[in-house]
Amino acid sequence: MSDFLVDNKGFFGRYGGAYVPEILYKCVHELQDAYLPIIESKEFRDEYHQLLRDYVGRPSPLYEARRMSSKYGCRLFLKREDLNHTGAHKINNTIGQILLARRMGKTRITAETGAGQHGVATATVCALMGMQCEVFMGQTDVQRQHTNVERMRMLGATVHPVTTGNMTLSDACSEAIRDWCSHPADTYYLVGSTMGPHPYPDIVARMQSVISEEIKWQLLEKTGRDYPDYLVACVGGGSNAAGTIYHYVDDDRVKIVLAEAGGHGTDTAYTAATIHCGTEGIIHGARTLVMQTDDGQIKEAFTISAGLDYPGIGPMHANMADKGREQVLAVNDDEAIYAGYELTRMEGIIPAIESAHAVAALGKMHFKPQDVVVLTVSGRGDKDVETYLNNKPMAKEYGNF
Ligand SMILES: *Cc1c(COP(=O)(O)O)cnc(C)c1O
Repeated sequence: MSDFLVDNKGFFGRYGGAYVPEILYKCVHELQDAYLPIIESKEFRDEYHQLLRDYVGRPSPLYEARRMSSKYGCRLFLKREDLNHTGAHKINNTIGQILLARRMGKTRITAETGAGQHGVATATVCALMGMQCEVFMGQTDVQRQHTNVERMRMLGATVHPVTTGNMTLSDACSEAIRDWCSHPADTYYLVGSTMGPHPYPDIVARMQSVISEEIKWQLLEKTGRDYPDYLVACVGGGSNAAGTIYHYVDDDRVKIVLAEAGGHGTDTAYTAATIHCGTEGIIHGARTLVMQTDDGQIKEAFTISAGLDYPGIGPMHANMADKGREQVLAVNDDEAIYAGYELTRMEGIIPAIESAHAVAALGKMHFKPQDVVVLTVSGRGDKDVETYLNNKPMAKEYGNF
């Protein structure tokens, strides 16, 4: 058994578990009992893979980025999750969970969203399946991410602005869980990342594992071997990273480098770098690393990237970072912006600002010319064009326009 995947009690090493209030105990256990037989069934797998192919547009290409390769002195391949329907990896997970919900007899979906990307991916699959969709979103984010709110409403979802706490993702999670508590019989809570109580981190990692499943055969086709020397991804809650590494966690030939959001810097109060700055605690039903005060109050996360703006981290990554299996680099806002411009100008790919954090990690790494590097571009940057333009890099090669 792997030291890095979930154990039979719902833990990743010392992290994970299901720390839920009494009232949710039954819902969580119902899901724990139901999920594996369903998602391992042939019927489920057939329908899931058919939708990934015909609806999402998978497999996503593995593209050898030649100009960036020569700049960094390695063979760099980009795993293009930005080309999926709705523009990011999140749809891999929502497609899988909506099929799970349907097989459990649920008719109503509830979800939280920060930037709105998970909300849009959830509203999309609810429209596809004709299911009722309730999305909880902090009032601050409703204002910051207005286009995504309009998209969700157009798709038929009800968006509930949350006005408690900081009115951001963390508060939206709490409200979605509260909604689940009050409609336990007909409602499925559709979590957007590898976080929350067991079995969610495991469910989401399995749904995203299609990314590394494809990397294996695509690399074999392109390089003659099915593993890279390095895997690189950004990490918010940790789902695109989990999918990128899933089939390689026990393969010591593969080094794993993740980029978390440093914000203004890990030595400031304006950061979302949970693995660097967090301490052990409980957030949204899981034991993991959390950015918190000495008396356990959860701190607000800060980063230019709405999708990485979470004061926790999935328990799978807390464990892997602890055990030294993952190297985690903090990438600051300005470094991510610069890297976003670099990928745009060198390869003609505008990455999501989240993904640009992974690109920036390349500049902090050292390669040999024969090294094969696979970097997951988790999403496209259409949603971030305004942010990129309002924060032009100081460097003269990209700043003068
Ligand atoms: C939501 C999001 C992320 C962060 O979520 P993870 O669960 O850590 O993958 C990263 N990139 C994009 C494009 C996103 O939309």
